Amino acid sequence: MATTTVSHAVARGGSFLVESPRPDDIFIPADINDDQKLIGQTAEEFVANEVLPLIPDLELHKPGVMSPLLKKAGELGLLGGAIPEEYGGAGLDKVSATLLAEKLSAYGGFSVTHGAHSGIGTIPIVYFGTEAQKKKYLPKIVSAELISCYCLSEPQAGSDAQALRTRAELSADGKHWILNGQKMWITNGGFADLFVVFAKVDGDKISCFLVEKGTPGFSAGAEEKKMGIKGSSTTALFFENSPVPKENLLHEIGRGHIVAFNTLNAGRFSLGAYCLGGAKRTIEVASKYAKERTALGKQLAEFGLIRQKLAEMAIRTFALEAMIYRSAGMMDGFMAAAEAGTDKTQHLMKALEEYAIESSICKVYGSEALDFVVDEAVQIYGGYGYHEDYPVARAYRDSRINRIFEGTNEINRMLIIQMLMKRAMGGVLPLIPKAMKLMEEILAGPSFEESSGERFAEEERMVANAKKVFLLAAGSAVQKLRDKLAEPDNQEVVAALSNIAMDAYAMESSLLRVAKSAARRGEPDVRAMAAAMRAFLSDAADRIEHEARTVLGAVAEGDMLRTQLLALKRFSKREPGNPIALRREVAAAVLAGDRYPFEYR
Ligand SMILES: Cc1cc2nc3c(=O)[nH]c(=O)nc-3n(C[C@H](O)[C@H](O)[C@H](O)COP(=O)(O)OP(=O)(O)OC[C@H]3O[C@@H](n4cnc5c(N)ncnc54)[C@H](O)[C@@H]3O)c2cc1C
Repeated sequence: MATTTVSHAVARGGSFLVESPRPDDIFIPADINDDQKLIGQTAEEFVANEVLPLIPDLELHKPGVMSPLLKKAGELGLLGGAIPEEYGGAGLDKVSATLLAEKLSAYGGFSVTHGAHSGIGTIPIVYFGTEAQKKKYLPKIVSAELISCYCLSEPQAGSDAQALRTRAELSADGKHWILNGQKMWITNGGFADLFVVFAKVDGDKISCFLVEKGTPGFSAGAEEKKMGIKGSSTTALFFENSPVPKENLLHEIGRGHIVAFNTLNAGRFSLGAYCLGGAKRTIEVASKYAKERTALGKQLAEFGLIRQKLAEMAIRTFALEAMIYRSAGMMDGFMAAAEAGTDKTQHLMKALEEYAIESSICKVYGSEALDFVVDEAVQIYGGYGYHEDYPVARAYRDSRINRIFEGTNEINRMLIIQMLMKRAMGGVLPLIPKAMKLMEEILAGPSFEESSGERFAEEERMVANAKKVFLLAAGSAVQKLRDKLAEPDNQEVVAALSNIAMDAYAMESSLLRVAKSAARRGEPDVRAMAAAMRAFLSDAADRIEHEARTVLGAVAEGDMLRTQLLALKRFSKREPGNPIALRREVAAAVLAGDRYPFEYR
């Protein structure tokens, strides 16, 4: 089993807003070791050799194509990443699992199927199953003898999952749970063998059940006609007095929501990794096409506006990658810090809970970055981008779902702030003392400090200021709205705060990544990556200023608003740069290899 080399510092989830880690404290893609790369390479070759040639059949749902493909993936060990070795899995560390997800993502129809089976369809059993349930199901999931899926959503219960109506009642003889109800949008629903189903007992106790194919009264609906990820199966499920053996209750009655939400923590993070892989592949095809296609006697790649697109695609992918691997490294660091004798599986669940804020950020940021990348790829392809014979039309359609499932991006934006506030109120994160200290700094007036002249000093200042802007805006919002911050009427404020927090995490992860690489390899060697980081920081700082204005305008007025806007202006001040020159440098790096240029760097 590959293991991640981690630093000694174990950061708390969400602490990026109140702490200033050093470059060596974080994991970066350059830290991925050879064993981990080998796992990624196996996945990449599998997709290239086995999955991509079958896309035409998969898109049409030809029977008997996806199941054998999953079995082949199982033979190569690509399905058991989340499953401990004692049940036949690979028990991968988080960095390896992230790389695996990333490299399986070249075809959305397959990666979504893989995620539903090996991720959200497996994790509930790994974390909450009894020994008997684990022994019975997990080895067969590893080999794809059983294909699994996760069944939470219902026609009237999507974002509001707790409104689910499917019910389970104990039979008169006490031997079975009798399920009645309907599920909706279930990935792998059309061909799965094992269904992780959420239902209510005694009216309101959400509980979870393992339902096998062939259960009487249980059936799957027809394939839904989707906009994208057409290769994946999505169906409704129907339960009519379906008897499920009593021992197939997963975890405890009334604790199903714990199963559901912990599973989604893991699923969200993986979704970010799938998006990262998709973005890299799209950059590759777009760069190649920009050289093949000519206009006015020039390659498209020679035009400034096309280069600008390729650069921005790589810049957003770079920031996403920095966040994803930093987060995966923190989870592995948390695991490595476990005391001897700790149950590894339970500790991993704690790690996912600890970094749920970062997972939501990776999900939202990843899905929006991929949407941007595929959209620009269609534009680079022009009319051919709009034609199904070319790969970017499908990538464009396939990408769109990522903002909807695993918690919509709206819901995740709300969650990020809810979780931060909960941690602040619980004393886990010192957001309140930091906000009070900031107020002292603001009242003391500007300090006119000189730049230290150190490498990346200006960028460090920008990142520190991004966090100050978060504290300023969040402090003002909490002071004004208090408990009402969580009310539906204040969602615009919460989403703006969430956007600031996400950009602050992305900025810091990008800067620390470049600083760590530069210290190792020298600055000239990371020039293009430093250009990507600087271009990203500049735009992110603009966005943060804009979002902070939105928040302050909504929650402050009069002299207080004026004082806070002055403070915002102070924290938003920065050296002028040359974004066009920075992007030209990044575009040159993309075009030099026709690929995303910062992998493993
Ligand atoms: C292709 C596909 C595959 C899927 N696979 C699975 C699966 O395998 N298993 C499974 O259980 N589910 C699955 N889903 C369901 C998916 O998780 C839900 O579609 C998603 O959670 C959104 O729920 P909804 O569709 O009911 O939309 P709604 O919840 O009705 O949301 C509609 C809009 O309102 C917004 N909204 C809703 N509530 C709020 C709020 N409180 N505040 C602000 N905005 C809000 C949403 O963000 C969204 O923009 C899948 C869906 C699709 C389309």
